[in-house]
Amino acid sequence: MKAEIIAVGSELLLGQITNTNARFISAKLAEVGIDVYCHTVVGDNPKRLSQTIQLAQQRADILIFSGGLGPTKDDLTKQTIARELDCELVTDDEAMKTIEDYFTHVGKVMTENNKQQALVLKGATVLPNRNGMAPGIAIGKEDKQYILLPGPPHEMEPMFEHEAIPYLLGVYGKHDVISSKVLKLQGIGESELEVRIQSVLEKQTNPTIAPLASPGMVKLRITAKAKTEEEAQKLILPVEQEIRSIVGEFIYGVDEDTLASKTTELLLQNDWTISAAESLTTGMFMAELGSEAGIGNALKGGVVVYNKEMKIEQLGILPSLLDYHGIVSGECAEAMAESVRERFTTTFGVSLTGAAGPEPHDGQPPGTVWIGIAAEGMKTASYKLQLSSSRNSNRKRSVQFALHYLIQ
Ligand code: ATP
Ligand code: MG
Repeated sequence: MKAEIIAVGSELLLGQITNTNARFISAKLAEVGIDVYCHTVVGDNPKRLSQTIQLAQQRADILIFSGGLGPTKDDLTKQTIARELDCELVTDDEAMKTIEDYFTHVGKVMTENNKQQALVLKGATVLPNRNGMAPGIAIGKEDKQYILLPGPPHEMEPMFEHEAIPYLLGVYGKHDVISSKVLKLQGIGESELEVRIQSVLEKQTNPTIAPLASPGMVKLRITAKAKTEEEAQKLILPVEQEIRSIVGEFIYGVDEDTLASKTTELLLQNDWTISAAESLTTGMFMAELGSEAGIGNALKGGVVVYNKEMKIEQLGILPSLLDYHGIVSGECAEAMAESVRERFTTTFGVSLTGAAGPEPHDGQPPGTVWIGIAAEGMKTASYKLQLSSSRNSNRKRSVQFALHYLIQ
């Protein structure tokens, strides 16, 4: 069964919003084993939408539309599909009642154009909208299925998951499931990873393995197809174990894990506390940890010491150390980490100092970064990075590396 997802909305073409609906729908269809062959985006234009429908009818069995079910003039999805399918639009009483109840509830007068939202294709299954007014629509015509969903993600997502998926499974019966597990790695490049796991990559059929690289991070997606989720997991497990036996030291998490979430987990589990002294990252390290729920029990605070004087004044770094070794040095990073750890009385003190770029800083080329980690009862360590991206990605990657060294 081939599905095509058609997102309707000129704002998508203008780059004003991201097509997250297509991503969500694709992911949910993959879970029930329905293959998506095409994502299409089309503007709020009936003629072009008609052409899109005709093309999709040639190459897909299931056409899923998102957007354009609302009350305004540019919401034309329903009318256009009705015309293409030669199908009448009729008022759905239940949907009309939902709309009327909403206006009574908020104490506003309903304008005429709102009634349009209660129109559905004659003979269709109405998919109730629990978070908005326009219902979704599901209809089979000849050998194709058409699903119409509202654009706002908070309306579309629960409707698709709880109404449209059961509808499709009812029509086509259960399919193979496609299940994925993503391994996340830090500290190893994509090409080195590929060489190291060559033997595993070569014999892949089911599951398949796809390396995905993003700045400063590599992921491995293991995807299996099976009759049930449990069977898919059983196929994934031995492959995951084999990969872990080769490059396990670089794997910091799976699926939704991030370096910040894993760091937070580790700190909280061990009742450890942390503080940071940041120069080139101006608080980004703390902000990254700060986005994790519960971090308040571990992150005590820290300082941003951007210039030389503040490193001396706020952290008590010796001027002679800075003169002799420089601000961008392991010695400076270690002194900053130790000082912040002492001042905030924490288990760990982390520091970041470097030349973010594009200009050299204190005699060091852009992208030179030192990370210091001071820990209770351990020798203070420092790590040098030589990054080569733009100023802001150097700063972001420095934060990721600091987290990486911390949990290593
Ligand atoms: P409304 O009743 O809000 O008008 P609608 O079904 O007519 O809903 P649109 O008017 O096309 O939907 O889009 C409404 C909003 O939903 C958009 O402004 C946008 O914020 C969001 N949206 C629409 N399509 C998408 C999409 N493909 N991905 C993510 N968000 C979307
Ligand atoms: Mg709209």
